[in-house]
Amino acid sequence: MNLVDIIREVQKLDDMSQQRLLSYLQNALEHTINGKEPLLTEIAERKSERGFSCPHCHNANAVRFGKYQTTVGTKTVIRQRYKCKDCSKTFTDLTNTPLNRTRKLDKWLKFIECMIEGYSLRKSAELIGEITWVTLFYWRHKILSSLEQIPTEGFSGIVEMDETYFLYSEKGKRNITDREPRERGGTSDKRGISYDQVCVLVARDRQKITLSSVLGKGRIVKKRLDKKIGTLLSKDNILCTDSWRAFSSYAKEKKVEHYRFKSDGKIRVIKGIYHIQNVNNYHSRLKRWMNRFNGVASKYLEHYLAWFRFLETLGFSQSVKNIKGMLITSCLFPVQETNKALRKSTFHPISVTALEDLMN
Ligand SMILES: [Zn+2]
Repeated sequence: MNLVDIIREVQKLDDMSQQRLLSYLQNALEHTINGKEPLLTEIAERKSERGFSCPHCHNANAVRFGKYQTTVGTKTVIRQRYKCKDCSKTFTDLTNTPLNRTRKLDKWLKFIECMIEGYSLRKSAELIGEITWVTLFYWRHKILSSLEQIPTEGFSGIVEMDETYFLYSEKGKRNITDREPRERGGTSDKRGISYDQVCVLVARDRQKITLSSVLGKGRIVKKRLDKKIGTLLSKDNILCTDSWRAFSSYAKEKKVEHYRFKSDGKIRVIKGIYHIQNVNNYHSRLKRWMNRFNGVASKYLEHYLAWFRFLETLGFSQSVKNIKGMLITSCLFPVQETNKALRKSTFHPISVTALEDLMN
């Protein structure tokens, strides 16, 4: 069919269909003609919504410094480059974002879709095509390095808080020498809570503001607890926890009203509203979701917690709005980790000195 045929066919369409065709063509052609990409523009605008600053030195003294060209899918996109007058470094809207220097924006969008589904790297690589799962490993962790930085708002009212444990894992690390290798995601042979377990704290208020974070190996320690949650709590909060002593003494110290629930399950609710069922349900959903990964290296656990937190806010639904929203959000917090740094990272939960540890 040549162009004349196409025009002839278009003329046969009714008014409504011609209108729809027109808006389709306008949309499809706009980006090619302007060399613009609305998603990149939105990222740039959201990143600088509080004013413009240099990603290297954070001063607001930058000038335009030429343009650069990139391709997004089959489109050529022209973007602005800047130069900081203070530190003399150049940057673009995507410096320190996971998308830095990308030429594959459409693939990133597909990958985000896979992340919302919670697909494995291998399955994602198959679905996306042309990108190896090793590359996707870095994409995943760059996105999560950013999402991890989304601040938790302060809690209001009742806060349910409980800890859960994940088996310490060095999955992916070769030549583990200090102990026998274990089956992936296996169970610890030590009874009770041991140093083999990684403690994860989840605190959630009734507006679903959620903190989930790695507290370290072994039993819950008050000092670590305070480092994670101290600034989010006020005297107006009411804590609901299980009967761990660490929680009780912590609540007393913070002068916060406190309801305790023993693990025997005899009393589940006090006065009809105080309970820890929301946080316990959160634990179950988190564990069920984590199961798909067959055990996660503990050094990346914080990333997975951030991933799950974000998906909960999206309701796990992969609408166009959510996919774009997740990609934009992952460009709003600086990600400076190189691929090598991501690979070589180690398990390092919040630092508490050995002495502080002993005091608890
Ligand atoms: Zn600068």
